[in-house]
Amino acid sequence: MQITNAHARPAHSCLTDLDSHDTGLTDAEAAARLERHGPNRLPQTRARGPLLRFAAQFHNVLIYVLLAATAVTAALQHWVDTGVILAVVLANAIIGFIQEGKAEAAMAAIRTMLAPRAAVLRDGQRKTVEGAALVPGDIVLLEAGDKVPADLRVLHARGLAAQEAILTGESVPVEKGSTPVAQDAPLGDRRSMLWSGTLVTQGTARGLVVATGPDTEIGRIGGLLAGVEQLTTPLVAQMDHFARWLSLLIVLAAGLLLLWGSVVGGQPFAELFMSVVAIAVAAIPEGLPAVMTITLAIGVQAMARRNAIVRRLPAIEAIGSVSVICTDKTGTLTRNEMLVAAVETPHGSFSVTGEGYSPQGSITPTGDLTRIAAAAALCNDAALLEKAGGWTVEGDPMEGALLAFAGKVSQNLGAPRLDAIPFDSRHRFMATLTQGAGGPVTHVKGAPERVLGMCAGLDQTDWQQRADRMARRGLRVLALAERAEAGAQIDARTLDGSLTFLGLVGLIDPPRPEAIAAVAECRAAGIAVKMITGDHAGTAAAIAAQIGLARPDRVLTGADLDKLDDAQLAREVANVDVFARTSPEDKLRLVTALQANGLSVAMTGDGVNDAPALKRADAGIAMGLKGSEAAKEAADLVLADDNFASIAAAVREGRTVYDNLRKVISWTLPTNAGEALVIVVALMAGMALPVTAVQILWVNLITAITLGLALAFEPTEAGTMTRPPRRRDAPVLSGALVWYVLFVGFLFVVAIFGMFSYALSRGYPLALAQTMAMNTLVVLEIFNLFFVRNMHGTSLTWQALRGTRVVWGVVIAVTAAQCAVTYVPVLQGVLGTQAVPFTDGLLIVGVGVAFFAIVEIEKQIRLGLRARR
Ligand code: ATP
Repeated sequence: MQITNAHARPAHSCLTDLDSHDTGLTDAEAAARLERHGPNRLPQTRARGPLLRFAAQFHNVLIYVLLAATAVTAALQHWVDTGVILAVVLANAIIGFIQEGKAEAAMAAIRTMLAPRAAVLRDGQRKTVEGAALVPGDIVLLEAGDKVPADLRVLHARGLAAQEAILTGESVPVEKGSTPVAQDAPLGDRRSMLWSGTLVTQGTARGLVVATGPDTEIGRIGGLLAGVEQLTTPLVAQMDHFARWLSLLIVLAAGLLLLWGSVVGGQPFAELFMSVVAIAVAAIPEGLPAVMTITLAIGVQAMARRNAIVRRLPAIEAIGSVSVICTDKTGTLTRNEMLVAAVETPHGSFSVTGEGYSPQGSITPTGDLTRIAAAAALCNDAALLEKAGGWTVEGDPMEGALLAFAGKVSQNLGAPRLDAIPFDSRHRFMATLTQGAGGPVTHVKGAPERVLGMCAGLDQTDWQQRADRMARRGLRVLALAERAEAGAQIDARTLDGSLTFLGLVGLIDPPRPEAIAAVAECRAAGIAVKMITGDHAGTAAAIAAQIGLARPDRVLTGADLDKLDDAQLAREVANVDVFARTSPEDKLRLVTALQANGLSVAMTGDGVNDAPALKRADAGIAMGLKGSEAAKEAADLVLADDNFASIAAAVREGRTVYDNLRKVISWTLPTNAGEALVIVVALMAGMALPVTAVQILWVNLITAITLGLALAFEPTEAGTMTRPPRRRDAPVLSGALVWYVLFVGFLFVVAIFGMFSYALSRGYPLALAQTMAMNTLVVLEIFNLFFVRNMHGTSLTWQALRGTRVVWGVVIAVTAAQCAVTYVPVLQGVLGTQAVPFTDGLLIVGVGVAFFAIVEIEKQIRLGLRARR
């Protein structure tokens, strides 16, 4: 089944050509077509093959140095050295390859979590299906904010416009309709078509799928495929850059040292060369970028487990540093499980009971509610479905609740729809025109102040006060109205002042208990929480109080905001936590005003018009369930469950990732400095090396894949959510870190030379003294790991000493490896080691304990000084 030139043919003939109907395909037919046409998915760009990825591991300064070194050692016929260096090169490449693979798999898994969904008509029923399940002939329902899931022939449109920049480069939205266009019209002018991958910016549409997957226009030009993201954040990029420069600097310094040593010092070249290679290997933080990438990948996975899906990696850092969270109310702080609880009409007040979305329940006192129930049922785009577990809603939960209410009044309120004005958060009402028994009727529902204003012949102030009273009880209030019509179209311009008021409906939407806890957690973490809602001020204040916001009583409305200029707003915004009846433009102004106060802002959004605010925010967060595709594309993070508690969880994970990145840096740099300094000092002093070049290569390799990686898996430190947010502009390579690198480097040198001289003074052979010095080095690295794990508090708690499974796992692995190279004869031959006597082994551990005590005391003094300041 193929269709050509759908844009130039009348809509109904496209429908018949594709063997479809106004009611859509049946499920069975759709399944059969899916077999035939394949899934509606663009072909994946083939990722780099494993061979190429493996080869890429060799593109690295350290590897070049090492390969050059093997050439020299081979020329000198030092075969053991050559073998060891080649083993190190290979091991490095394999480790890098595996780590990178894991990180890429983590990102790929996240991307599939964001798979788009589409609303279709099947068997005349509205249904939500995976975008990949669409087939030619399907009828898709679209509204503002949706991403077009396949190439569609527009069957019916209302105020429809689409942004087609990805296809045509034109960023101004194009108006769309169902009228055929000229056959030779270029893509951008085919107004009767909607193209896969473009965005609906306004209006609603019903479209017929004419092409899917690779057959779509976007599939044909192979677009959308370029967006494979690099696993990096500003911090990681900064460190990557730093590591690269440092490596070059080290290679240069090592070269100069070699020149100076052999020419000026007259030392034998072969030995000196190996020492210089050892310095380069020891000093270059080669593992750092890879470990940081792994840390990020683990953070991304941890966030996904907590329902926060990272779309843009820099957001991991941003979300960890936010100082204010601006959140929607409906569905984020509340459950978005609505129930009509109260109805007020000019004839009386009624209370409604019932369970969930079941259309059964009681209304007291009895009275005739047929007209308002008909308005609730007909001015409505949702559908109720009875499933095994009870009644569920397809569409907006609030509309589902209205359907349930209507069902409690009467079961047969249906009527064919002729026309509609969709809901828009800017005009805050919706209208439909249906064919009633006595002629066409327009029904309107919307925010009370908006709908009351359209009605004639009622006491406006009295009804406005009644609506306010309902809102103050925390109810979400809607007003309903109707008008008899002559024609088959609604003219929005004639609605004002001509409607008959039917009554007010109050819906309950209880707060989420976990959101209450999460708001408290954020406040303890020094993060302000502000509610920005389209709802009524009274409802917003009532929910704000239930949720535990700091100042629920001070409410600014969109109208209040309009009266403030930017400077005044920046002053006011800090002291208000509830913003009601806001528009998407207000959200943008609020983000800007908060940022003007130096705050780092997280902002949630769901509508198509929220995109600018989401982009502007430091961390834009879109709702995964009720959010539009437009909002998701603009966001940095998407919440899989729309829940505020997931934002708090993301903040905690964001802070943890940042801490862990810093821990990785704080372990790696001093370790490298310490290792390199030992050899530099020995060379300068013209003494025998306390640790041989081959031994340094070995230590570097074994500790980098164990101890170095362990910090990427560190769990959240206690107190992470009771600390104030870090400053966004705080540098990573701070004075404190530089001091720590130098301090630890110095202690390493003292401890290793101390152990070496002690061994020589006891008359031990050089090889044994070197073995003891090498083991001292490894023990120091282990203790440094334990120290770095607790940056923010004391390391002397049971919790800290107990460590984690990863930490003990790597410590045991390193210890076993060290015992092997110290005591196994074959390995002794390779590394030039000798068995260390037991008491000296204890002494080595003792040196580690002493090192730990010194750095811990230094930290306590530092923390104490900071606390006093
Ligand atoms: P939040 O930003 O917290 O999600 P919200 O969902 O209440 O708030 P909007 O969706 O912009 O914000 O709704 C604003 C107001 O418009 C509502 O308070 C309600 O009065 C009215 N409204 C919402 N949805 C509809 C609808 N489908 N039909 C008619 N009126 C609606």
